[in-house]
Amino acid sequence: MEEPKLSTNALIVLEERYLRRNAKLEIIETPAEMFWRVARAVADADALYGPRSQVAATAERFYQAMAHLEFLPNSPTLMNAGTPSSQCMACFVLPVEDSLEGIFDTLKLAALIQQTGGGTGFSFSRLRPRGDVVHSTGGISSGAVSFMMLYNAMTETIKQGSKRRGANMGILRVDHPDVREFVTSKRDRRALNNFNISVGVTDEFMRAIEKGEKYPLVNPRDRSVWEHEDARRIWELIIQEAWDSGEPGLVALDTINRQNPTKHLGEIEATNPCAEEPLHPYEACCLGSINLNAVVTGPPEQRQLDWHKLGELVDLGVHFLDNVIDINHYPDPRIEDICRRNRRIGLGVMGWADLLFQLGVPYDSEEALSLAEELMGFVEDRAVEASVKLAERRGVFPNYPGSDYDRRGGPRMRNATTRTIAPTGTIGIIANCSAGIEPLFALTYTRRALGGRELKQEIHPVFLEEARRRGVLDDHLREHVVATGRVRNLPTLPEDLRRVFATALEISPEWHVRMQATFQRHVDNGVSKTINLPQEATPEDVESAYRLAYELGCKGITVYRYGSRPEQVLSLEGYC
Ligand code: UDP
Repeated sequence: MEEPKLSTNALIVLEERYLRRNAKLEIIETPAEMFWRVARAVADADALYGPRSQVAATAERFYQAMAHLEFLPNSPTLMNAGTPSSQCMACFVLPVEDSLEGIFDTLKLAALIQQTGGGTGFSFSRLRPRGDVVHSTGGISSGAVSFMMLYNAMTETIKQGSKRRGANMGILRVDHPDVREFVTSKRDRRALNNFNISVGVTDEFMRAIEKGEKYPLVNPRDRSVWEHEDARRIWELIIQEAWDSGEPGLVALDTINRQNPTKHLGEIEATNPCAEEPLHPYEACCLGSINLNAVVTGPPEQRQLDWHKLGELVDLGVHFLDNVIDINHYPDPRIEDICRRNRRIGLGVMGWADLLFQLGVPYDSEEALSLAEELMGFVEDRAVEASVKLAERRGVFPNYPGSDYDRRGGPRMRNATTRTIAPTGTIGIIANCSAGIEPLFALTYTRRALGGRELKQEIHPVFLEEARRRGVLDDHLREHVVATGRVRNLPTLPEDLRRVFATALEISPEWHVRMQATFQRHVDNGVSKTINLPQEATPEDVESAYRLAYELGCKGITVYRYGSRPEQVLSLEGYC
């Protein structure tokens, strides 16, 4: 079996956590065997809908796409498909009911999910507020945040024995009486260290800010009004905290629910940890990403997108992820039920920054936005077409009746949703491409990951190639790139080169948000994006980004100001 061509970083990552081990913890499979294990396990679902003889051909196609790093499913699929655990989904949302039994039932389920490498998101908005009565004991409740601490401790305890560091998303509605405590809950940097937190904002709240009005905080236990809050004061608090530590993010609940095609199942209250997947309670989703480096053709000066190949990869991705729903081992029957009924999948892209480098298009340009529109519009049309074709052979998703597709005479879909832009934090390393739709953080950087092993990144190969081709690559340039990670500030370099090879902190927050919003227009789930801000950014910069994201229809927003957290994952060497 020919081994796939993998980078050193990819091999480190695979050896750390992905390749199977025996009881003595010795690695017992090669990367090629891993891709075959996954390909065969996932292709097996074809036999449910047609002759078993076609499984081998499908497995071959899945294998080739993965081994050539053209398409990769999310990490739990790579780790678990074809193993006894076989839990393949990365994203879960679990409901937290306002009862001790409900809180601890969900805590247990979350622990089991995290053991398999899945991330869990929760809305704590149904919990009665701090100070409210507990009838059974005659006491008072310790409130939503205290229970988040409990969940955080669970993750801390089990993370050593799990497939990867557990990740949680905690969401609280902005009209929950504990909102102030929630917004400031990460001031102590060690508290809630296993949580991302986001405030669930509503259209009503955003309007109240505009008008400078008060809005009601409502006790979820009995829907009574607890008190009235000044919307601007809460907004300012959110902005200040986000400026200070990057959190809380925002989740736009009304935008999410307006666009949810399965409204007939009730409201969506939460997302997965990186916020790219809004889900119903107990729903899970499997993600997969196409590596855009794989869909570029032509010599360096005439590179272009290979639309035909992109289309084929979209077909393959939809087929692959639809199969995962059938072969997946679900950690709970309630999760299995809604997953099988909605058949929600999340196909997206990674390597967007690499693609822009290859095409010579600056990330912060109208041309890049147009290309994003065209590219993701294409993925949208093709993914819908692929899902419709699957439905012709396999049937529509069981919750189709009553869905928006059904009520509005839309396409007869196999899957309630088909598209997500994932962070691709690890599969991007495996595929040796830039993460999701993020710009490069730097043209060279160090990344601390997985048990403290440091992964080194070389100077970006497209930059090297282009600088060499233009005859400007010398020791001085190399040293500058290694020392600062960027070239925009280098006056000796041709202007167009400086424009194209932009990095995250040189791109203004507005362009980050506009890029996110452009992809969001063609994505029926969410878009993972960090709006990077330089260290000297002001709270007003954070506010503008939050407002713009909401106005442009983003389903959520996360900012990160350089240096605002001591334990940051990415760092610029010599950045100042
Ligand atoms: N995730 C998680 N723990 C992690 C990283 C990711 O639980 O350490 C989950 C989380 O739900 C996240 C999703 O996986 O939103 C997708 O993340 P990413 O694309 O970075 O995962 P990859 O497939 O690259 O490992």
